[in-house]
Amino acid sequence: MMDIFKKCYQFDTAKKAREGGYYPYFHELTSKQDTVVHMEGKEMIMIGSNNYLGLTSHPEVIQAAVEATLKYGTGVSGSRFLNGTLNLHKDLERELAEFLNKEDCTIFSTGFQSNLGIISAVAGRNDIIFSDKENHASIYDGTRLSYAEVIRYEHSNMEDLAEKLSKAPENKGKIIITDGVFSMSGDIAKLPEIVALAKEYGARVMVDDAHGFGVMGPTGRGTAEHFGLEKEIDIIMGTFSKSLASLGGYVAAESDVVDYIRHNSRPYIFSAAIPAANTAAALAALRILKREPERVQALHDIADYMRQGLKNKGLKIRDSRTPIIPIFTYTQLRTLVACNSLFEQGVYVNPVVPPATPIGECLIRTSYTATHTKEQMDIAIEKIAAVLKNLEDFEE
Ligand code: PMP
Repeated sequence: MMDIFKKCYQFDTAKKAREGGYYPYFHELTSKQDTVVHMEGKEMIMIGSNNYLGLTSHPEVIQAAVEATLKYGTGVSGSRFLNGTLNLHKDLERELAEFLNKEDCTIFSTGFQSNLGIISAVAGRNDIIFSDKENHASIYDGTRLSYAEVIRYEHSNMEDLAEKLSKAPENKGKIIITDGVFSMSGDIAKLPEIVALAKEYGARVMVDDAHGFGVMGPTGRGTAEHFGLEKEIDIIMGTFSKSLASLGGYVAAESDVVDYIRHNSRPYIFSAAIPAANTAAALAALRILKREPERVQALHDIADYMRQGLKNKGLKIRDSRTPIIPIFTYTQLRTLVACNSLFEQGVYVNPVVPPATPIGECLIRTSYTATHTKEQMDIAIEKIAAVLKNLEDFEE
């Protein structure tokens, strides 16, 4: 008889890394998420979070979460659909829709759930989803949850997308789904070309702007604002776990589409609503972004400073214009060893290994915050350069 747990007993990747002393996951923080954190008794420079605007420790955001908890309690104990809608949810939805220049918006409890809920509601049996191969895992899973046909195109390859669109039957509903800013590489999606192709082939466009919101465009409205395409993007999805310093997600679109999602999305209807504390924190963070758009420029200045500093050390860095700077380490072992070495020297970075990347394309993902200081960046540059230099002689 086959034991369903056989794969668990045979799984030894984590065990080997623990034995080798380079297991990089589940380090414990004993402080707020910020540019400097406390982890396992050490002070660390954090360049592995998505706290792009530095708002996770902002007094107004914390205060808003505390006050909301005192007023509404800890959980809503039910779906938005039934007993779980707070006026606070509606306030955040209204302000987000207005900020994103969309007719309506609704919020989910996580970004991951948003993609599951939006895609599975909008794409049905008679539809085709065109999805970039480097899209986030939650998009992959959302497409699998829908009953639509899924066609993956090569990453940001517009000829491939055009060819695939041209072969699709006219009588099928079509949607192109792409990350606005790709989470691992920091690449920006080619939205002008995507929008043009969508028009040509009668497709809709959905952008996952988890890493674009608060980051792209002069006022942080996202990748659509960066390209001046807010009207042309049919569905904008995003999360509160990055620039908005909280947890949750949203969909912004025309009101009929949002209304349809509210009444047809199973992950939305059959799951409890986002708690008041998370909602209030995201709302407070959004208001700070509106009031202090200069945080967006500060973030880009820090990322540019870091890119230049790493380049000056002879590291090959991609010329992206986002606060995600990947450093290629290629193999899994080199990546884990490098991350561990940086951890020991007080710099927290994220290892990105399969299945998050293809085999042989492993990388260290570094990401920056508007409130990082030049002094912190200088330390990080020195340490990264030294660790990567050591890696040159590393034998696997
Ligand atoms: N989309 C993208 C592009 C992401 O990077 C992430 C999370 N890293 C998500 C969706 C899911 O968001 P959350 O973590 O807020 O659930």
